[in-house]
Amino acid sequence: MNIILMGPPGAGKGTQAKLLEQTRGLKQLSTGDMLRAEIAAQSPLGQKVKAIMDSGALVSDEIMIEMISARIDQPDCAKGFILDGFPRTVIQAQALDVMLHQKGKDLNAVIQLSVDENALLARIEKRVAEGGTIRADDNAETLKKRLEAYRAQTAPILPYYEGKGMLQTVDGMAGIDAVTAKISGILDGEEAAA
Ligand code: AMP
Repeated sequence: MNIILMGPPGAGKGTQAKLLEQTRGLKQLSTGDMLRAEIAAQSPLGQKVKAIMDSGALVSDEIMIEMISARIDQPDCAKGFILDGFPRTVIQAQALDVMLHQKGKDLNAVIQLSVDENALLARIEKRVAEGGTIRADDNAETLKKRLEAYRAQTAPILPYYEGKGMLQTVDGMAGIDAVTAKISGILDGEEAAA
């Protein structure tokens, strides 16, 4: 089963993807984590994308499409994967359709975690205050830019999947367990229908 988790930064996509990885044996593919690994390794790609990521803007479609296409060919994705942070533009969504078709794979569900943006800012501030996972792009100012990028470039994907009858929405402001239960219900339904 291959699924996409959508939602603005801080919506809880990563948390839910990790839980699905444990419970369903699907592989979490976080493009943000992949890019951060490139930066940590000081690879040429990492050096190229660091400033873009720190600013809260999006990395080019070309780089991202190539990265995800190579990643889903790996054996650990054979049982299925959860895309967390990809696609982020309509161009990426269209390219994903083409590449999955070429690879003989299907997309089973697109799940959107809907959230209140003011509450998101509060979540990030809390994360920073608690000294948790602080990233260069984890501050209120950059978060605003990332939310703007989401609204302008990523939200237009939603009608794209809605038009295909694939979009399902879960209230991302509910507690972690409640969100997990809702997602599980959707995936069980997809499995039963398959
Ligand atoms: P994330 O951890 O998913 O919030 O991603 C962190 C940053 O990585 C984003 O703000 C972008 O700069 C970059 N990034 C991650 N995934 C993508 C993508 N699919 N397309 C473009 N940029 C991305």
